[in-house]
Amino acid sequence: MKRTKVKELLDSTAYGTEVTVKGWVRTFRNDKFIAINDGSTINNIQAVVNESFDAALLKRLTTGAAISVNGELVASQGAGQKVEIQVKELEILGDSDAEKFPLQPKKHSLEFLREIAHLRFRTNTFNAVFKIRHTLAFAVHQFFNDRGFVYMHTPIITASDAEGAGEMFRVTALDLENPPRSEDGKIDFKQDFFGKSTNLTVSGQLEGELAAMALGDIYTFGPTFRAENSNTTRHLAEFWMIEPEMAFFELKDNMQLAEDLLKYVIKHALTHCADEIEFLRTRLLEEEKQKPQDERSELDLTAKLNFCLENNFERLTYTEAIEILKNSTPNKKKKFKYLIENWGADLQSEHERYLVEKHFKKPVILTDYPKDIKSFYMRQNDDGKTVAAMDILFPGIGEIIGGSQREERLEYLERRMNEMHIPTDELYWYLDTRRFGSAPHAGFGLGFERLVLFVTGMTNIRDVIAFPRAPKTAEF
Ligand code: ATP
Ligand code: MN
Repeated sequence: MKRTKVKELLDSTAYGTEVTVKGWVRTFRNDKFIAINDGSTINNIQAVVNESFDAALLKRLTTGAAISVNGELVASQGAGQKVEIQVKELEILGDSDAEKFPLQPKKHSLEFLREIAHLRFRTNTFNAVFKIRHTLAFAVHQFFNDRGFVYMHTPIITASDAEGAGEMFRVTALDLENPPRSEDGKIDFKQDFFGKSTNLTVSGQLEGELAAMALGDIYTFGPTFRAENSNTTRHLAEFWMIEPEMAFFELKDNMQLAEDLLKYVIKHALTHCADEIEFLRTRLLEEEKQKPQDERSELDLTAKLNFCLENNFERLTYTEAIEILKNSTPNKKKKFKYLIENWGADLQSEHERYLVEKHFKKPVILTDYPKDIKSFYMRQNDDGKTVAAMDILFPGIGEIIGGSQREERLEYLERRMNEMHIPTDELYWYLDTRRFGSAPHAGFGLGFERLVLFVTGMTNIRDVIAFPRAPKTAEF
């Protein structure tokens, strides 16, 4: 008989019909009530067995076992669910060793769950997280598709390390025990697979710009890799990035698109993942109860998400932000780890979060950063000191988006590259866009896991990706 998913059955009122459900046993109580979950929802369906079943068979209904049940859908007698299944046939598809089963009905720490790859997915928390992750990814594509953007797949393996600044993972087919060497004793990458030294990409932007300068509006959505040794709750070594690039866009258009995108995808998640967000909201409130009163957040998860939708993001320049930070209480009382003394200082996550969470109490877009702390391709402002950069800062996260208007003037770009020791000859293909019909254009990078982190309210970025890659972490 055709299997029906639990999600569908829980909403059904087709009492008296015969149904088949396949899933995993969450609990089996009083030799009578099986709670079955099949992943389609965080909620379980109750299946009721009577005395006619063989005791040996029922004994195998241990937590985690995969089963198939067939029976009649009836209105539930008990509280907590509308419907249940009166079981007629029961089949064990896969036994689960009750002695060794690591998930108990009690709550497990997220750190503990990270160690057991296959069972992590079976928890309600991760079911909710990955549903939301999926929904956000879908919404990203929907947003751009509706606006006529073209989804570009930029390469994972790249020969340019201009953006990497030494934080790239090398890709090689050479024998590392015995690599070929050139006369000067250096490893001879001419003999490597691609005939040159290659790495995993840190961003698809440079390639994306080429596409935008022909197709108009494009976006990438792919994995990026950074070998930075940042053991933080906001950094992964392998993460997914969304990078739109728009011809004829200036900085203010770029900011508006970024704000629209964030609001659109958050709203989409609120509409389509209401159950999951509600589950995570409650879970978070429980966690907050463990914290001292003054460390609890003022808004719960749903309120925080709605708050982002209802407020215009605050726009201000880096220079204005520095003035606010310089005069802020944590700076004066030396509470910041990195004190803000001079214009030109790179902002740390503590500063970004102060601006968002304490000062403005809403998302913030900072623009016009000092050119010395930003990338070579950002458009130089007339003041000679700043570039047309924009970073979007979110509560609890800090930087969620980094972007800019690009430098479209060849001589400015080449001069800046020379100053920053970026080889113009290697990037000839990028500079060619400025030689043949250059035009103003802009784009940004949205870290997908940081977005998922925000929408799920999780606190560690490793808990919003299925198989996290971080320093000393690549087990599964
Ligand atoms: P940060 O200063 O937070 O390390 P960044 O300035 O190095 O970030 P960008 O190069 O601007 O980051 O990358 C664009 C976006 O990608 C960031 O705004 C962020 O959302 C995301 N991102 C960057 N590095 C990581 C990482 N290691 N893990 C997860 N997301 C990241
Ligand atoms: Mn950035």
